[in-house]
Amino acid sequence: MHVQTIGASVGLEYVQWLHSPVMPLFRHCDTARAHVNDGLIKLPGILSDNKLQFIVQLQGCPLDCHYCYVTRAGVHGEAVRASSDALARIFSDYSRANVFHLMGGAPALYLEHWPELVEALRKRVQRSFVFHSDFLLTEGDYDESALEQLRQADVTQMYAVNIKGATRDEYSRNTRTVLNSDMLWSNLWRLIEQRIPFYLTFTGMPMASINKFLRWYREHISTHVPYWFPIPIVPYLAIEHAQRKEG
Ligand code: SF4
Repeated sequence: MHVQTIGASVGLEYVQWLHSPVMPLFRHCDTARAHVNDGLIKLPGILSDNKLQFIVQLQGCPLDCHYCYVTRAGVHGEAVRASSDALARIFSDYSRANVFHLMGGAPALYLEHWPELVEALRKRVQRSFVFHSDFLLTEGDYDESALEQLRQADVTQMYAVNIKGATRDEYSRNTRTVLNSDMLWSNLWRLIEQRIPFYLTFTGMPMASINKFLRWYREHISTHVPYWFPIPIVPYLAIEHAQRKEG
């Protein structure tokens, strides 16, 4: 996997850099920032409760959101390859976080590697933890056997499904890409059919759009709507924030 350092993200905040002599590439985040913005952002309990997040920032994303701090060259223009075993070892031996967060870019571009990573974590990590990552639903057709392996893995998991528009126009304004709605809905079905635990986030969408999506979800997917919350776009100089914390 291509792993890149840094960047603060919506809903999370650095509390420290993990100064590991082995690979100083990973950061701890405190979920406390998830409760700013007038309490609009609240992670599900399994991820909050003051749990620290160990963030692995993956390189690459097919979208081009105007507010994104992840550039095509990486946040700091650098990336390394890391094996699943190395990531599990660093999380186990150099971190005290309870959440292993595989963050984007678009981490599901690497979905085929997630089962191997989850298994490496299960074998290596002695404390209880949650494996957390994100789905955009448009990274490509999700590999059903990878999803099945995740479902069967003996590791606590929780995923965010990031929705960025209820209409083609809104999606295009938000992401500067064209929505592949067939792929989006078929990937959502794959997650549901494989019983992958997820919550929904709505980025940069007004409540009217969110309600439109939720109505559609109730009518066509399930009357049981997963936990969800909106992520408003707020002025936030992520890279400057990160550099201040590093300094
Ligand atoms: S989905 Fe948007 S905000 Fe997230 S990494 Fe991709 S371009 Fe950036």
